Amino acid sequence: MKPRLFTPGPTTVPEETLLELARPVTYHRSAEAKAILGEVTEDLKYVFQTSQPVMTLTSSGTGGMEAAVANTLAAGEKAILLTAGRWGERWRGILKAFQANLVVVEVPYGKAVTPEMLEKALAENPDTKAVFATLSETSTGVGHDLEAFGRIVAKSPALLVVDGISGLGAMECRTDAWQLDVVVTGSQKALMLPPGLAFVSVSEKAWKKIEATPIRSFYLDLRRYKKALAESDTPFTPANTLIKAQRVSLKRIRAEGIENLWARHAKIAAACRAGVTALGLKLFAERPNNALTVITVPAGVDGSATLKKLEKQHGFKLADGQDNMKGQIWRLSHMGYTDAFEVLGAIAALELVLHESGFKLEPGAGVAAFQREYAKK
Ligand SMILES: *Cc1c(COP(=O)(O)O)cnc(C)c1O
Repeated sequence: MKPRLFTPGPTTVPEETLLELARPVTYHRSAEAKAILGEVTEDLKYVFQTSQPVMTLTSSGTGGMEAAVANTLAAGEKAILLTAGRWGERWRGILKAFQANLVVVEVPYGKAVTPEMLEKALAENPDTKAVFATLSETSTGVGHDLEAFGRIVAKSPALLVVDGISGLGAMECRTDAWQLDVVVTGSQKALMLPPGLAFVSVSEKAWKKIEATPIRSFYLDLRRYKKALAESDTPFTPANTLIKAQRVSLKRIRAEGIENLWARHAKIAAACRAGVTALGLKLFAERPNNALTVITVPAGVDGSATLKKLEKQHGFKLADGQDNMKGQIWRLSHMGYTDAFEVLGAIAALELVLHESGFKLEPGAGVAAFQREYAKK
């Protein structure tokens, strides 16, 4: 059977990138390695839509998040956390570990934090040093209005720090134009690489704060990365095989064009949502984003057993809910190297498995609705 990966990280990797990963290991302090990192950095700036250098860290996405916290906040400084799910909770865990004085704005899973909530929290806490937000809350499928968040935070002395893991490279995100001070992403979501690299952008406003903050981490000290990057280098041995492969995947994004890429994700996501709804299923996110579709498991259906069947019988690997969401939702990724017909296949397989399990639906209804939506201009 052909394995088909639809988890919201890791995601499938293009063939030409896989071939690059198979090449011999090379030395990381060579002129060639520097040229490659320089090229990757330029392409990352394009993906982030920033003129600031984007730093490459050898870690999973969480390492980038930890770097953002460790570098921007001194112990006891005030931070506003906007949380709408498990990845907002990841921010909370890191902020606690670094002794932030936390103000939490929390909404139930499936809901989105609104710009009004942020505005109110910031007005009540004028001594806030940084606001922590999530672009795509991958645990619920919610997307946040970072453009509006950016407008609000920019009027204050605080920084806006964004977990863009899974969102960046799938949904519109304009780091500079939206005044996002720190943006973090990971390699294994929309950037079409295996896990292992994190990328962090830092605005001029954020650099000022970082330079005035005591050093709280050795490996994740962003000042070191900035200094090394000025020479197209890294402070420690990087996962250079992954960097070389990331270069290949980034070329694919460059060739498509970032706005075309956003539009492609939007189109596939809209078709996927139409297909799912036509099956009589409900979307879990009140403000769905284009990186993934999160479906509420209908009453009377065993959510986890359905996913097992999809994988065992048809090779489709979707993701279950995490922690206490297990069995409650299905998460279907359409970010990165995934095309419309692969997602259409996933809808067809889900339809079939649900039909076989006795769930009332009209076979083909999801597929037809997907096609109808996808055919729209
Ligand atoms: C996947 C993900 C993370 C976690 O990244 P790791 O690479 O597992 O450390 C954090 N935030 C969001 C929004 C994610 O989708």
